[in-house]
Amino acid sequence: MAVNIGILGTTGRMGRMIAREILEDAHSRFMGGTVREGSPFMDKPLHDVLGLPANTAIPSDAMNTISPEKLLSVCDVVIDFTRPEVSVHHAYVCAAMGKAIVIGTTGFNHDQVQMLADAANHIPIVLAPNMSVGVTLLTAITEIVAQTLDSKYDIEIGEMHHRHKIDSPSGTALALGEAAAKGRNISLKTRAVYDRKGNSGPRKRGDIGFATLRGGDVVGEHTVIFANDGERVELTHKSSDRRIFAQGAVVAAKWIVEQQPGRYSMKDVLGF
Ligand code: NAD
Repeated sequence: MAVNIGILGTTGRMGRMIAREILEDAHSRFMGGTVREGSPFMDKPLHDVLGLPANTAIPSDAMNTISPEKLLSVCDVVIDFTRPEVSVHHAYVCAAMGKAIVIGTTGFNHDQVQMLADAANHIPIVLAPNMSVGVTLLTAITEIVAQTLDSKYDIEIGEMHHRHKIDSPSGTALALGEAAAKGRNISLKTRAVYDRKGNSGPRKRGDIGFATLRGGDVVGEHTVIFANDGERVELTHKSSDRRIFAQGAVVAAKWIVEQQPGRYSMKDVLGF
């Protein structure tokens, strides 16, 4: 049977792309989505909201609403790629209504992560800063390499994204940092270095450094470097099409409806 999926934040770059994936998927049914209050798309037909030609087949009962509650009442699961404070609110609404949620939003602070963990006591939540198969694999490999190579191999993580991205380092870079720290059995919180400027001194052994680049239309590039005297191992992933994230989000939505309450990652979804 098809899974009824709604989108929280349909007008976003990712929201629109995810809607198209659902519409093309035989095992999902598009129930519509939400726009923020005051959005110029508030009272517009879904074709306009999604930027689709008027002849695109969209279920006639799919809704365009500002109310997450209204959307949730007809969905098995919702997908949210919005903003941290908005996604936290959505997770609480889902918890109150007993509905599963897939969250792709990045940039959560510590308190917000804790609030999502609270919501996950009541409902199943997939929280994944990167929904691509390739990055999920890169994250798993990073942990193994960090565990295998000793601390003589300095770990640096570089990333580049398009000029519109508002959080840095990217959620994916942080997840790669967490994976490297886990492999090394250290805490990223105490070993991460986000800024180097001026007389920043020599690198401390065991630190995990981050470098952020922004520009153009780059969908997302991440490299984890393990640098020792005499050699360097570099693991790189390059995304050239946002569609990979949208496809991952729909796979996650179909998977999460079968799960018990809890917080899940893309690694859980893909069974890596
Ligand atoms: P975007 O700015 O294009 O879209 C965000 C949308 O959320 C906007 O359309 C905005 O109107 C909408 N929104 C904000 N508040 C809302 C509310 N209360 N109700 C309904 N809609 C609301 O951004 P984007 O590029 O689509 O990215 C969104 C998020 O997803 C970012 O945090 C980004 O980093 C993340 N992202 C994650 C992945 C992944 O694989 N997990 C991939 C790409 C982007």
